[in-house]
Amino acid sequence: MIKEIKVKTALSPSQLPGLDYALNPYRGCGHACIYCYAPSVIHWDKGKWGDAIEAKVNLPRILSKELRIKKKGIVGLGTVTDPYQPAEKKYEITRRCLELLLMHDFPVCIQTKSSLVLRDMDLLKRFSNIEVGITLTTLDDSVREKMEPGASSVQERLRTLEELGKNGINTWVFLGPVMPYITEDEALVDAIAAVKPKYVLVDRLRLKEGVWDCVTAFIREFDLQLLPEYDRIFLKGEGYYAEVFERMIRRCEEKKLRCEVNKIG
Ligand code: SF4
Repeated sequence: MIKEIKVKTALSPSQLPGLDYALNPYRGCGHACIYCYAPSVIHWDKGKWGDAIEAKVNLPRILSKELRIKKKGIVGLGTVTDPYQPAEKKYEITRRCLELLLMHDFPVCIQTKSSLVLRDMDLLKRFSNIEVGITLTTLDDSVREKMEPGASSVQERLRTLEELGKNGINTWVFLGPVMPYITEDEALVDAIAAVKPKYVLVDRLRLKEGVWDCVTAFIREFDLQLLPEYDRIFLKGEGYYAEVFERMIRRCEEKKLRCEVNKIG
């Protein structure tokens, strides 16, 4: 269910490194990832995550006013929820915001799990400073379907990276959250390297409020034998990520791909 809402502000100061502003055209997200922590960030109280979406229909009008007076800075498009989630197909709020940002020559950084971003290639190509990040968590699309049911397939995302690159758009990959014993380390890096993003940012699973229950419900269905491993890593705090990240970084180096570990939060 999509509800149209009106907002009073568009750009908010961003806490994320490298970004000055955050711009989020939607509240809620139809991608419905099982590890999503956005509900705790936005204090979501509108029911099951993924079922209800709020589309900020007046956002372009508010943004247009703000762009005339705000100091130029890098805008993170979709810092909380995905700007190219399914609702964007109909509402085109992200597209209209991009048109305005282009008109005012604001630098933009997009992060998405959707190939719908390719629809806006005509705009992306005209920016003097833009980069698009695509998130990947697994190579196996049957696993992706369970973890990120509303998002584009793995192949679609890899194709998106390739297409963006071919059109001269700077791309990067958010490889995360790395799901222990599910996210492939070296094979996934290899597939990413083949589509030549500028860099890769790897991240661990972040258990903000409510996430543990969703993740364990998923693990119970996916592979019950993994449950003690998840308890060991996340409840007892035993090591896992250091070694896996080291392998990923080494593999990236072999593939001449810049790789960083996300140290935020
Ligand atoms: S795409 Fe991002 S915001 Fe949307 S459900 Fe997945 S993790 Fe949450």
